[in-house]
Amino acid sequence: MTIQTPVAGVRAAVRRVPAYPFIPTNEPIKLDQNENPYDFPAELKAEALSRMAAREWNRYPDLHADELRRRIGAFEGWPEDGVVVTPGSNVLIKLLTELAGIGQTVLTVSPTFSVYTLEAQLLGARLVEVPLQGDFSLPVEALKAELGRHEPGVLYITQPHAPTGVVDAEAAVRELTEAAGDWVVVLDEAYHQYSGTDYRDLVRAGEGRLSLRTFSKAWGLAGLRLGYALTSPALATQLQKLVPAFNVNTLTQAALEVALEQPAYVQARVQEAVQERSRVLSALAAHPTCQALPSQANFFLLRTPDAAAAYAHLRARGIVTRRQDSFPGLSGCLRVAIGTPAENDALIAAVTELR
Ligand SMILES: *Cc1c(COP(=O)(O)O)cnc(C)c1O
Repeated sequence: MTIQTPVAGVRAAVRRVPAYPFIPTNEPIKLDQNENPYDFPAELKAEALSRMAAREWNRYPDLHADELRRRIGAFEGWPEDGVVVTPGSNVLIKLLTELAGIGQTVLTVSPTFSVYTLEAQLLGARLVEVPLQGDFSLPVEALKAELGRHEPGVLYITQPHAPTGVVDAEAAVRELTEAAGDWVVVLDEAYHQYSGTDYRDLVRAGEGRLSLRTFSKAWGLAGLRLGYALTSPALATQLQKLVPAFNVNTLTQAALEVALEQPAYVQARVQEAVQERSRVLSALAAHPTCQALPSQANFFLLRTPDAAAAYAHLRARGIVTRRQDSFPGLSGCLRVAIGTPAENDALIAAVTELR
């Protein structure tokens, strides 16, 4: 009789993936997760809390969050039967890998948003990563070659891209989407409010295309967990089959309804973040050794002579950032979110001390 180790029954693909490397810290200035630096406005939070209290907590929520999907559809100008919601768009990425990646191919660029590659690895999809070009733009020709080399699967295009913050030429995105034929094409638009880009028309124009959006960034509601896909009713029907029943809880649904009724605060914050982004980037432009790379999102890459030393120095000043220097092409890089003006002042001062 052999003695089983506790993980012996776990699939090899799961055992191979290292545990998620995020390390929580207690520094006061948190610029490591691209969150909104401001909480949900106090008066909206009070309204959300009173609506939460009025709901029946003993009852299961709406099976597929139909009311919330209807309201998101109204907000986005999208038919509600083409809206799919999950607790964060990270969950949608897992479901899309189940939908079109398992036994098929997940195609993305490198570096890319780690959840695409993580889910492909966990779910045993064939993962193909094509390096970004030297200026971080999409390698359109190389991606087209890979599209032709494999049976259809899922292609991820992130606009603005993460972790670079780059927005590609619209023509490049359209050319790629066109070349993708029967592939499921995911346009991850988690940060689109900060760039002013919007690929809803491209999704509307073809079958098998989705826009992924989230309440975690511009809306400042990362703690509530809500992301959504905008797609065709036909693809939404397939994707919905994979969504666990009752997956958006009653309290999140109540709060999101309040946000969607009074979304004006979002625009004001996005405007401030965009102004602050350009202020921070220009303040760091003349730095002798560090390079703040241009971005159209609410974060940017800071290329330093030594990522470990720069990360430690900023932490000593109470600022947490995210190291990205293990990604190909990102040696020395930290990813830094745009914070409040005071947080950004502290960041500028701390980076200015770096040599
Ligand atoms: C933050 C982010 C998301 C959103 O994740 P949620 O699960 O909705 O919080 C999606 N895609 C990218 C590229 C992101 O950076």
